[in-house]
Amino acid sequence: MDPVRTCVGCRTRADKPSLVRVVAQDFELVVDETATKPGRGAWVHPNRGCFVRAIDRRAFGRALKRLDAVPGTSMARFLTTLDSHPGASDQTRTG
Ligand SMILES: [Zn+2]
Repeated sequence: MDPVRTCVGCRTRADKPSLVRVVAQDFELVVDETATKPGRGAWVHPNRGCFVRAIDRRAFGRALKRLDAVPGTSMARFLTTLDSHPGASDQTRTG
């Protein structure tokens, strides 16, 4: 049985492998794509809706106890790779 985490965007629980981990590095929130960075992590579905909701509510900062950390360029870049709608990702990916 896979460990379960709560998505900080939509607050529903999901298997850990279906979520991505976000950590605070210095004053920047970064996506920990390999889920190996040290420290506290926040978990979120890899879709734009959950990220945007989490950012709007400062849910990452609260989960990480780092309200001084803000989304940086690496997270913005990650967001551009995501689909707006969950489940719409069965097209061929480039890169
Ligand atoms: Zn979610």
